[in-house]
Amino acid sequence: MSSTEIESKNRRHVLALSGGKDSSALAVYMRDRVPDMEYVFCDTGKELKETYDYLDKLEVFLGKPIARIQNGSMGFDDLLRIRNGFLPSPQQRWCTEYLKIVPYERYIGEDWVTSYVGIRADEPERKGYISTKPNIKPRFPFVEDGLMRDDVIRILEDSGLGVPSYYEWRSRSGCYFCFYQQRREWVGLLETHPDLFREAMKYEKPDPVSGKRYTWIQNESLTELAKPERVAEIKAEYKKRRAREAELAGNASLGEVFGTGCEDEEMGCTVCHL
Ligand code: SF4
Repeated sequence: MSSTEIESKNRRHVLALSGGKDSSALAVYMRDRVPDMEYVFCDTGKELKETYDYLDKLEVFLGKPIARIQNGSMGFDDLLRIRNGFLPSPQQRWCTEYLKIVPYERYIGEDWVTSYVGIRADEPERKGYISTKPNIKPRFPFVEDGLMRDDVIRILEDSGLGVPSYYEWRSRSGCYFCFYQQRREWVGLLETHPDLFREAMKYEKPDPVSGKRYTWIQNESLTELAKPERVAEIKAEYKKRRAREAELAGNASLGEVFGTGCEDEEMGCTVCHL
């Protein structure tokens, strides 16, 4: 047997789920195409309950377990402590690296792996997780097959799973305090999970040395955002923006038919938000 044949015989097929609609739809799409697929979820420990519930349902549909892995003994709070409370941000995304990429690459080890990524054909500018490890080869089935956002939603609806319920107030998966959230999503968190909103508030502390305030959103603390008049303002701005977008689009897309959620807004993190 040639080395290429040995490699392809031993090759593992792995699909990393984020708990979001695209990677979930990809799992559904690939279930019968790649029967020996392994499914894995890198759990940050700061996910929404809805995400865990959805993964449980997906597991039943897939008929095999979704491996749930974490970053060993160092959780988000430990990592934050080491960084003196300096919160992650789009520029300093250490959380993705330590809570998603490192555990995923550890799970794969040195094996030859095809890693399936849920980037869609209508988001060519999005890059997705591409490992620098030579044994990990990425594949983008939705791009290869030309599947777009409405196809993804249809795949989930046809499977009976539907989209995860948090899309009613949030446009992407990930930690409940993710700094990629739009202000209207923070309002969604406040109204849907006030306990988690309060938890997120606790992370916003002034730096004891510089006095500089660490906040999840630039130039606005969650205490300020939670004020009733500010909440009303954010909601009104969002409503206006959606009306303007709908007018520009001319007709409703499937995403809009599903309610407030499912619009991709900003792309966010391609590891956590697929
Ligand atoms: S979801 Fe957001 S906060 Fe959580 S690990 Fe990903 S980028 Fe970081």
